[in-house]
Amino acid sequence: MTNQPKPVTQAKILLVEDDEDDYIITRSHLEDLTSLDSQLTWVTNSVEGLQKLTEGNFDICLLDYQLGAETGLSLLKQAVDNGISTPIIMLTGQPDKQLDLQALEYGAADFLVKSELSEARFARAIRYALSRREFELERLNRLRLEADNRSKDRFLAHLSHELRTPLSSILGYTELLLESNHTENARPELNIILNNGKHLLSLLNDILDLSRITANKLELRPEPTSLRHLMLDIYTLLRVTAIDNGLELTVSSVTPLPVLITVDGTRLRQVLINLIYNAIKFTDTGSISVELWVQQDAAKEMLYFRITDTGVGIPQRQLKEIFAPFTQIEDYLTRKKGGAGLGLAISAELIQRMGGYIDVASEEGKGSVFTFSVDPGDIAQAQRKQLSLEPSLGNVSGAHNTLTLTGEVLIVDDLADLRKLSAHWIQATGALVDFAENGAEAIAKVKHKVASGKYYDLILMDLHMPGIGGREATVAIRETGYGYPVVALTAAMAKGIRQQLTALGFNDVLSKPITKSQLYRVLRCYLAGHTALTDNSTTDIAPLHFLVVEDDTEAAELMQILLQSLGVKSTLAHSAEECMRELALLHRFDRILLDLGLPDSDGVQLIERIEHNYPDNIVIVVSGHEHDVAASGSAIVQQSLLKPITKQALHSVVLTCR
Ligand code: ADP
Repeated sequence: MTNQPKPVTQAKILLVEDDEDDYIITRSHLEDLTSLDSQLTWVTNSVEGLQKLTEGNFDICLLDYQLGAETGLSLLKQAVDNGISTPIIMLTGQPDKQLDLQALEYGAADFLVKSELSEARFARAIRYALSRREFELERLNRLRLEADNRSKDRFLAHLSHELRTPLSSILGYTELLLESNHTENARPELNIILNNGKHLLSLLNDILDLSRITANKLELRPEPTSLRHLMLDIYTLLRVTAIDNGLELTVSSVTPLPVLITVDGTRLRQVLINLIYNAIKFTDTGSISVELWVQQDAAKEMLYFRITDTGVGIPQRQLKEIFAPFTQIEDYLTRKKGGAGLGLAISAELIQRMGGYIDVASEEGKGSVFTFSVDPGDIAQAQRKQLSLEPSLGNVSGAHNTLTLTGEVLIVDDLADLRKLSAHWIQATGALVDFAENGAEAIAKVKHKVASGKYYDLILMDLHMPGIGGREATVAIRETGYGYPVVALTAAMAKGIRQQLTALGFNDVLSKPITKSQLYRVLRCYLAGHTALTDNSTTDIAPLHFLVVEDDTEAAELMQILLQSLGVKSTLAHSAEECMRELALLHRFDRILLDLGLPDSDGVQLIERIEHNYPDNIVIVVSGHEHDVAASGSAIVQQSLLKPITKQALHSVVLTCR
């Protein structure tokens, strides 16, 4: 066995010493240390010593106690006070316990007596100082990294807020313009702005998510979640997009499913929307099915989801790559589909954090199957049911807690049976019904209504009728300046039809055969201002009054317009002080919509002030970035809305007030 040579440590050493003999002795001590390759710099006074130390290039400083008229202690103190991290070893001629203690107290790494110095003692002091230096450097590096991360987080939070606020205005005002009756000619262009704005928002969300994942800052918040509600919500949202693309979307359960699961519902929703949306995006004809089941994996029962499409498929060699960030199989596709290639990477990461895994199988030209699992929490005792997506609206005949609507709906259809069926469902809610058998009769009825200063709250317009069809009738009705909602009914759902029809002036599209749940969705949407629970039994409700606390003038104005369109009165406060002034006058608003980023106060502190002084209020936090959502643990905060605020989000707040 050969003797391994000891590794040699390199070290830059500064010696502050006014005596040349002592310099020579110290240098030879250093040269005797075979394990150290030292590079010695010698200075003779404390001014030069401090200057060299400040330049910061030394691993160790050897400092003589007696420097002419001065003591090395004052240099030591100055160096430590100036934040110099180089370890300093004090050298002195005589042993002096008092001095020793003082030097260590001032922050010296060690204290050596020149006359007693052995090679071993010197080597130990150097070794100790070097490891202390290494430790210190690591600590400084860690602090710097933490500070970097903190400022990156602050920057991202700020950026997110700064981007969401103008996006709120872009999306909100475009939606308002689309709803107004002065913009028929500009509908296609407005739809382009709206779609691009939404796209920008989803890119922003993806980039923020990814940066949170890389910084290990993404936290999940598992909570008891109704699986049926979660799936119904996703289905309602994406079914429209599927229909627009001429595709069928189905959701079903393979085994009975737990009614309640414990997951981060927002994140699970995000994964499902991403996968289903991809399936729609990459499928030209056919269908998308979503299947759910529970399966025993090792020690745990897991919840599985399978999304199957009949689309373009993914080439075998790229199957594993698609979960890496920024991956798109662009060259394989004949046309650009948009997206940053982040969705699957984020979904895979989220799924892993939800305790599951994701897998994909695909055949080019035939379609793709994405399967993933999540940990649903403890479901051993949970009640289980097959999944049913028909919204349970209860008994519509007017019993407790049913949907009660007011207003009048004009049903335009050439088929008497269909008119009767829709009428039956509508009348069951309490709303009134009128009929027209064709386009010409519909135009005449609308004109007649308008002439007497009235309007229909909703027109359900079949597209295919003999004579004047639904399209021509709607165009003619819109030409008279009539701006109330018209919803198209059609059996021929083709790709792009929704866009075509909204360009003609329709507000929405329903596919035939129309189901009760679809019809109720539309009724609730367009007759929403009149909904009330029967146990309130009031149709004559005093207008709600909200306080909007928002410093951005445009965002505030938009919020007020949206609230007004929902029949809600609002008062505006631009700052925390204005907010407190308004509360001092009225004491209670139906809701306080509060942006946390105010110029004169921390939003969380403002919530505490409101809770303390006006505890009867309920606050909805309006937030520019997700972390704010849990910003306040206050009991008066009911929920938080992430910017951009949509009319739909405000509508859901309004519904909780009644
Ligand atoms: P993107 O935002 O580009 O859709 P994703 O990470 O969601 O990003 O998807 C990455 C790529 O994987 C897509 O650009 C597409 O090439 C491919 N891909 C994802 N889902 C499907 C699917 N259902 N069918 C075909 N290709 C898909």
